[in-house]
Amino acid sequence: MKILKIDHLGIAVNSTEDGKNFWSGILGLEFEGDETVETQKVKTAFFPVGESEIELLESTAPDGPIARFIEKKGEGIQHVAFRVDNIEAALAELKEKGVKLIDETPRMGAGGAKIAFLHPKATAGVLVELCER
Ligand code: ZN
Repeated sequence: MKILKIDHLGIAVNSTEDGKNFWSGILGLEFEGDETVETQKVKTAFFPVGESEIELLESTAPDGPIARFIEKKGEGIQHVAFRVDNIEAALAELKEKGVKLIDETPRMGAGGAKIAFLHPKATAGVLVELCER
């Protein structure tokens, strides 16, 4: 398995519009666009930072994973995403090593990426996403 870089940091927010005011309006990051991923009940907004990106995540439903995260922990960093060269091979290797996975097979994420989450119980509480673009 080869991790190429930190692809993005996922940050749970109540409002991507408010987020744009801060990340773009105040910090001056370029706003790359937003996208709703219905299957994950989330609206995303991307801001490139060098070779990585900030991904803001706003829930589109009260029972969505981001809504539940904010209910429990408040707004803040929700996951770290590593870009891998081959996500199927990475998942097979992790499974082989006994790492608990949320997604045993990749699903489609924002921007046409293939993504999969590791279980936070396997990563000392850090929700880790693998993504391949
Ligand atoms: Zn992500």
